[in-house]
Amino acid sequence: MNGNAPQRRQAAGGVGLGRLFGIEIRLHFSVLLIFGLVAWSLAAHTFPGWHPDWSPALHWGLGLATALLFFVSLLAHEFAHSLVAKWKGLQIDRITLFLFGGMAELKTQPKTAGVEFMVAIAGPLMSVAIGLGAIGLAALLVDGGFAGRLAENPEAAMASLGPLPTLLLWLGPINLFLAAFNMMPGFPLDGGRVLRAILWAISGDMQKATRWAAYSGRVVAFMLMGLGGLEIFFGGFINGLWLLFIGWFLFSAARAAQAESELRASLQGHRLSELMDTGFEFADGNDDVESFARERLMHRSQAVWPVLENGQLVGIVTIDDIAQLPPEARPHTRLARLAKPLHEVDFVEHNLPGPEILKRLAESDYGVVLVVKDNQIIGLLRQSDVVRWLTIHTA
Ligand SMILES: [Zn+2]
Repeated sequence: MNGNAPQRRQAAGGVGLGRLFGIEIRLHFSVLLIFGLVAWSLAAHTFPGWHPDWSPALHWGLGLATALLFFVSLLAHEFAHSLVAKWKGLQIDRITLFLFGGMAELKTQPKTAGVEFMVAIAGPLMSVAIGLGAIGLAALLVDGGFAGRLAENPEAAMASLGPLPTLLLWLGPINLFLAAFNMMPGFPLDGGRVLRAILWAISGDMQKATRWAAYSGRVVAFMLMGLGGLEIFFGGFINGLWLLFIGWFLFSAARAAQAESELRASLQGHRLSELMDTGFEFADGNDDVESFARERLMHRSQAVWPVLENGQLVGIVTIDDIAQLPPEARPHTRLARLAKPLHEVDFVEHNLPGPEILKRLAESDYGVVLVVKDNQIIGLLRQSDVVRWLTIHTA
């Protein structure tokens, strides 16, 4: 470590792919697994079933190309959400692809039901456009009698297709299926967001609309899990497992969305200073890390320490920073040198309105904000402080 170029904390579990239209694209590690699974199931099952006469090399080549285009179409779906959001003035800086879908990470919530509706519907519309486009392109590539032969003898008709129409006739329907899946009316799926926008427009109450849409998300999730159970019961083990998994995933997402909505509601009308942790101490930047850890850190529950050097605030040091410093270096390293510099620390005014807190905390690089009043640090705020608030403010 050379002290300059401070390392910013990696967003949990993902790799960056680059930027497009000013939006960072990230891949969650689960995508690699699913990509492999999609390519394998196409190359080892779907395509050999359609084209038993093709070579394995062709099956695999086409399987990989198709899987790749499948993920490109997922990305296009997320970009449709993101670009409409940007156009409507919402801040968006990252798209994370995970599993069989993605997440356009909006930093700001839509301000009106109309904007919410447009942002939510844009993704499924893009999937429909890709789906119809792929099927239309395939229609141009096959001869006029194909549809008739497909109805008569599907196997022979599919076997007569070349590689490109084969790819398109898988990609097209799967995008239509994705659009339909995403439009299921359960928050936080796109269809649930559309539902929330409609309920919001009718009731005029966004919190209430979120609760209803999240409730509907749980119902949809239970239905999927029920279908999965039936499927397994009747012998479709893999499909059933998928449905169970998707249902469970949706259920936890709906519950998280509901919890966030309740938290937002409970913070309404309150200020940051009511939540913050005021029982903290400052660390002396001139201390070495070893003696600081032994004499102070070990005897407090405080995990984040503002560091003063000659009475001036110079940064913050966390228990993780100390853990990462090799023990042999600790006696020779001053705390001030280990501290994260001030320009990386998030300062927030003590009278920040409650609902803004979650946003500021989510934006903070180290999961902590320093609360300021009259240029003095009067408190710290971390996720655990919000959890404590929630514990005593929800029935
Ligand atoms: Zn979507």
